[in-house]
Amino acid sequence: MPDPVVSVVLPVYNEEEVLPETLRRLTAALESVGEPFEVVVVNDGSRDGTMRIVREVCAADPRFKLVSFSRNFGHQTAITAGMDHSSGQAIVVIDADLQDPPEVIAELVSRWREGYEVVYARRIERKGETAFKRRTARLYYRLLRGLTTVDIPVDTGDFRLIDAKVRDALLAVPEHNRYVRGLVSWLGFRQTFVPYVREKRFAGVTKYPLRKMIRLAADGITSFSYKPLKAGIAIGVALSVFALLFALFIFVSRLAGWVFMEPGWASLMCVMLFFFGVVLIMLGVIGEYIARIFEEVKGRPLYIVSERIGALPDRPRAR
Ligand code: UDP
Ligand code: MG
Repeated sequence: MPDPVVSVVLPVYNEEEVLPETLRRLTAALESVGEPFEVVVVNDGSRDGTMRIVREVCAADPRFKLVSFSRNFGHQTAITAGMDHSSGQAIVVIDADLQDPPEVIAELVSRWREGYEVVYARRIERKGETAFKRRTARLYYRLLRGLTTVDIPVDTGDFRLIDAKVRDALLAVPEHNRYVRGLVSWLGFRQTFVPYVREKRFAGVTKYPLRKMIRLAADGITSFSYKPLKAGIAIGVALSVFALLFALFIFVSRLAGWVFMEPGWASLMCVMLFFFGVVLIMLGVIGEYIARIFEEVKGRPLYIVSERIGALPDRPRAR
């Protein structure tokens, strides 16, 4: 078997309903690219029939490899493991639910051949996703850009091609809270994008419930911006200035003998609750960052592999 030129990283979590069709379409698309390829399937702790399907395809076709986690470690970690185990010169990350059409890979590869080291696939349209998801995603990508100095492109997920050089640089980044798309932007290299239409999920349901979505969003922000921490200073200064002016105003009105304020606790209560709220929110923000520091300091491995088929052991990770 020739050495693979293109490695495809396919994270799967309970995808038995789509996987046979995905593997079929992926194989067809990759064969039409005309380069030797491998597909590294990363099983992220599936509890359905996913493993059976992957084992079958690995047995029938050595171009398919498997890395299976001991439990669910999450999508970003699965992508990282796939890259760890990839041996091609270009690595493509793609979702398993056919929302990212495998046919786009040919375009990604041809841009890579032109010399680009990172080729993003940018969603120009999203089909079959709720208005809520589309709107929050749109808003989020713009908020993230506003908060960070890293040039993270809008409307791009993890569907992209990276050169082996970029993969090696990425794997040398020891961060645990991996927001892969941000890290890739942070690395630099020659980047470009190709537009595509994000299809609706072929079958099954999303494996990104709101809770995971929020976590990913928070990882993106805390890993690439400390502006939320600084917001406390701005709010604090603004409130102090306001309080000072207000005190001055009360003092003057007393001297002048204006009477316009009712004595009472309702107004005081509102003000106090509001300010306690602000203080607790800021404490929470600090807590988020500390939790992430804690996570990094423990230095646990990113993931635990329970089974490999055809895939090389992990590359040693910088630490
Ligand atoms: N996925 C994963 N681990 C998880 C959640 C998702 O490996 O904990 C995989 C999933 O199998 C799919 C990809 O990540 O291949 C994207 O997930 P999904 O399509 O459910 O997310 P959405 O498109 O709804 O944001
Ligand atoms: Mg999807």
